[in-house]
Parts: sequence; structure tokens; C-alpha cells
Amino acid sequence: MNRKIALITGASRGLGKQMALHLSAQGIDIIGTYHSRADEAQRVAETIEQGGGRALMLALDVGDSSTFAAFAAQLSQGLKQTFGREGLDFLINNAGIGVRAAFAETREAQFDLLMNVQLKGPFFLTQALLPLLADQGRIVNVSSGLARFSLPGYAAYATMKGAVEVWTRYLAKELGPRGITANVLAPGAIETDFGGGAVRDNAELNAFVAANTALGRAGLPEDISAAVAMLLTDGGRWITGQRIEASGGMFL
Ligand code: NDP
Repeated sequence: MNRKIALITGASRGLGKQMALHLSAQGIDIIGTYHSRADEAQRVAETIEQGGGRALMLALDVGDSSTFAAFAAQLSQGLKQTFGREGLDFLINNAGIGVRAAFAETREAQFDLLMNVQLKGPFFLTQALLPLLADQGRIVNVSSGLARFSLPGYAAYATMKGAVEVWTRYLAKELGPRGITANVLAPGAIETDFGGGAVRDNAELNAFVAANTALGRAGLPEDISAAVAMLLTDGGRWITGQRIEASGGMFL
């Protein structure tokens, strides 16, 4: 039986890196993308290969949709050369950036950057990759707890994530006839480099998150990779069009 293949955007660091390591440990082949950190992506690939898995890392700017057709062609070639396959099974739209600005001070350039990376990018990347996504495949779009609860400073960021959640329901509806599921995984605050590493490195913020989380601590990348694995394995087969929040119960 063919091994499954997952494409994870933003697999060089943070949540995407941990997803790549976790899914690989479960026997899934990994195609990861990176933007600025080819070195980190290479390290992730080496770790996977040392563990007996297979990984291919490709450069991609999710914020530049003009590159997606060429990326799809490169991906198609990589699938054949590295894995002997025509298509992939799982697409995880994870890559993203945080921009913190109060609504009253949000500049158009900040809004446009967030829109391109967090919303337009995943939307048109998924469209470009549809011919490569196998029937019965699965799509996971990474949103944020901030699309459910509101914290000052994230109006533009959370607006994009909210749109991703609406788009995901349409994906589920329109791709259902092919047996493809599409779900949102919404992490709470997780200790990564995101937002300058604030949740991890700022003790006050970390304590604030822990105090407002039912399970009593900030999230770790492992908490999110485990939730993604659940959606991609048998337990997720009848789940589609849903928003699953993995936040340890933030702001319940
Ligand atoms: P990190 O900053 O740790 O990692 C971001 C990843 O995205 C890196 O692999 C980076 O690549 C990649 N990336 C950034 N910009 C681009 C771009 N323009 N094109 C392609 N890839 C890009 O962030 P997290 O891992 O924490 O975040 C991952 C996702 O989770 C994001 O969508 C974020 O919004 C979401 N999220 C995060 C939360 C958190 O608290 N950490 C909470 C809720 C949601 P490279 O390193 O090569 O530049």
C-alpha cells in the first residue's frame, strides 16, 4: 500500500515543523515548504530522514499567488522523483505571520500583507493544487482562537482567519463529491517564534495565557501536531466543514 503524503506549508519552524516531525513518525511522507529559512527546513528534512522517513522541502512564498502555477509544476515533478507518486493525500495550510496593531492604527500595508499571506495565499494555493490532491484527501486550514474570541491588537489578523473559516466550509461542500474533507484547526496561544516569540518568551504574557486556559498552561507545538494527526487519521474520516479549536480551553 502507498504511504500517504502530506504537504505542509511553513514546515521550517514552529507548528509546521512539529507537524512534519509528528506525521513522519506516523509513517506519512512529508513535503514541507519554507520561505526565509532554508537552513531550518533542511534540518527538519534531515531529522525526518534520520528517523527513517522521507521528506522533500520546497521554497514557497504563500503571499505571492503569481508563483503558485510554477510551484504546482515543481511539486508535481518532486512527487514523481522523490516519492514515485502523481498526487498527494493531505494539504495543511499552516504558514503564516502575525502582525499586531490596534484597529485604529492598522495601516493598509499591514492589512494587505496579512490578507495575502493568511487568506489569498491559502485560497489560491489550494486551488492551484486541486489537480494534485487525491480523491479521499484531506485539507486542514490553520486558523486561530482569535477568530472566536477578541484580544486588542489582532483585528486585521483575526479578520483573515475568520475568512479562512468561512472559506473552509465552502471547500468542504464543493470538494465533498470527491471524498475530500476540509476542516479548520484553530490553535490557542502556542509557544513558537510567532509574533516575535511572545507567548514563549514573555513571562507575563505566558502567565496570562495560562491563567485564561482551562488546562492551565500555554500550548506547545506538540499539542497542535497531535490534533492535526487526529484529523488526518481514521478518527477524522467523517469530520468535514468543522472548526476544531485546540487551545486547551482558552477563554471558555
Ligand atoms: P512561526 O513564526 O513559528 O512559523 C511560521 C512559519 O510560516 C515558518 O515556517 C515560515 O517560514 C512560514 N512563513 C511565514 N511567512 C511565509 C510566507 N510569506 N510564505 C511561506 N511561508 C511563510 O509561526 P507558527 O508556527 O506559530 O504559526 C503557524 C500558523 O499557526 C500560522 O498560520 C499562525 O497564524 C497560526 N497560529 C499560531 C498561533 C501561535 O500562538 N503560535 C496561534 C494561532 C494560530 P520560514 O521560517 O522559512 O520563513
